Amino acid sequence: MANQDDNLLKKIISHAKEYGFIFPSSEIYDGLAAAYDYGQNGVELKNNIKSFWWKAMVQMNENIVGIDASIFMHPTTWKASGHVDAFNDPLIDNKDSKKRYRADVLVEEYIAKIEGKIDKEVDKAAKRFGDSFDKDQYLATNPRVMGYAEEIASINKRMKEAIEQENLAEVKKLIEDLGIVDPVSGSKNWTDVRQFNLMFSTELGSVADGASKIYLRPETAQGIFVNFLNVQKSGRMKIPFGIAQIGKAFRNEIIARQFIFRMREFEQMEMQFFVKPGDEMEWYEHWKNKRIQWHKTLGLGEDNYRFHDHLNLAHYANAACDIEFNFPMGFKELEGIHSRTDFDLKAHEEHSGKKLQFFDPQENKSYVPYVVETSIGLDRMFLAVMTSAYKEEVLEDGSERTLLKLPAALAPTKVAVFPLVKKDGLPEKAHEIIDLLKLDFSCQYDEKDAVGKRYRRQDAVGTPYCVTVDHQTLEDNTVTIRDRDTMQQERIDITQLHSRVADLVSLSRLLKQL
Ligand code: ATP
Repeated sequence: MANQDDNLLKKIISHAKEYGFIFPSSEIYDGLAAAYDYGQNGVELKNNIKSFWWKAMVQMNENIVGIDASIFMHPTTWKASGHVDAFNDPLIDNKDSKKRYRADVLVEEYIAKIEGKIDKEVDKAAKRFGDSFDKDQYLATNPRVMGYAEEIASINKRMKEAIEQENLAEVKKLIEDLGIVDPVSGSKNWTDVRQFNLMFSTELGSVADGASKIYLRPETAQGIFVNFLNVQKSGRMKIPFGIAQIGKAFRNEIIARQFIFRMREFEQMEMQFFVKPGDEMEWYEHWKNKRIQWHKTLGLGEDNYRFHDHLNLAHYANAACDIEFNFPMGFKELEGIHSRTDFDLKAHEEHSGKKLQFFDPQENKSYVPYVVETSIGLDRMFLAVMTSAYKEEVLEDGSERTLLKLPAALAPTKVAVFPLVKKDGLPEKAHEIIDLLKLDFSCQYDEKDAVGKRYRRQDAVGTPYCVTVDHQTLEDNTVTIRDRDTMQQERIDITQLHSRVADLVSLSRLLKQL
C-alpha cells in the first residue's frame, strides 16, 4: 500500500532535527526555503549511503571508475546539453491561493488518482476471485479498469503533444478540461502556464573584466560527458565502461515543499555507462536489475519499490524508467535509469569541435558510444532510509520507544559503550573498549542517566549495538552487547567484540549480496 501520511513526514522532520540528522539551513535567520544542513548524525548516515553506492558501483566493477568534476563548467556545456534552451518546468499559479505549481505535476497527480482507482478495483477483484485471480487478464478485460486506462492514455497523449509543441495554452486547457483544482484552496482560478528555467546563474570574474555568465550545474552527468575522452585515454578504458560521480547539483525548483525530497541544492550519485551502439537495451536491462538489487539488499522493504516506465521519453532517450519509493507522500521517483543514446557526446562534439569517439579494435572503426545512465538523488535516498527506519513501538511493559531501524551498515554510530556506573574503574574500561573499536567503527561513549535511558537515546539515532561494562567485566573481561531491534542482551568476551561487531555492521556483507 502506498503511504499517504502527512503525519509520518512531520514526525520524520522533527525527529531528524531533534537528533542531529537534518536542520533547516541558516535556521537562526528563519531558514532558507528548500535548503537543509546535515547535522552530526546526518552527515555520518549520508557518508555511509555514499560509501555503499561508491563501493557497489566503482569498487565492485572492474570497468567502472570515478571522477570528481567541478561544479562550474564552461557555459557552452549547458548549451550543448540542451539545458539553456530546454531545462524548463511549466509553472502555473492559482489566483486565489497564490500558490505556485508545476503544471505537469498537477496533471501527474490527477493521473495518480485514476491509477489509485485501478488499484482499488484490482484489490477488490483479488479478494473476490481468491487464488484463481489473474491480474493481467483482469486489467486487459474489465471494462471499468479499461476505461480508466484509456483515460490515462489520452491525458498522457495530450500532455506529451502540448509539451513537445510548446503549446502552453493547451496545457492550461488540459488542466481546465480535467477540472483540476488547487489542492490547497479547491479553486479552479488558474493563471496562464509559463516556462521557467531551473538553472541558477552567476557571474564569473568582476564586471569590469567583462564578466561572463556561468551556471551552477543542474546535474552531475555533464561533468562525466566532457571528461569521457580524458578518462578513456588516461585509464585505457575499453567499451563497455562506466564513469561514476557523486556531487552537488542545483535547481531553482518552483515548488519545494517536501523536505529533502525536493531541494534547490542537492546531491546526485550518477554513473554513465558507455556502450557500443545497438547494445544499449541489453545494458539498460542490466542496470535496471543491478540497481533494484542494490536497493533491495539494504532491506528497506521489497514492497516499497516499484518501477515506473516513462511513456513520454525525453528527446534524447530511447528508454527510461524510474525506481519509485514509497515515501510518506506516496510512491515517488528515487532514481532514474535512462538510455540516452549518443545524444550528449554528439552534442559536445558539435559544440566543441572535438571528436568524442572510441576506437573499437574488434570492429576496427571509431564510433560515438551510446550511454546508459543511473542517476539517484542522495538526499532522496536518505529520506527513503529514514522513512523505512522510523518506528514507534509499544513495549511489553507498556512503555514506548521511538527508534530508527537503520540498516546496521548505514548507522551513524555502530557501537555505543556505557559504563554501568561512573566509578570503580568502569569508565576507564569503557574507554579502553572504545579504543579497541574506534579504528574501524564509529563509537560513542555515554555515562549519563540510567542505562535504560541511554539505550533509548541510541535507539533514537539508530545505533545497532550497545555494549555495557559492569563490575563482572573487571573480573572476567566480558561485556553485554545489546541488539537495537530485539533488545536482547548477550554476554561476550571482550576479545571477541571486534570480530563480532565487524560481522554485524560491515558493508562487505551487503556488497557480497549484490
Ligand atoms: P523530478 O521529476 O522529481 O523533478 P527529475 O526527473 O527531474 O526529478 P532527474 O533529472 O532524473 O530528476 O535527476 C536524477 C535524480 O536526482 C532523481 O531521481 C532524484 O533522486 C534526484 N533529484 C532531482 N531533483 C532533485 C531535487 N530538487 N532535490 C533532491 N533530489 C533531486
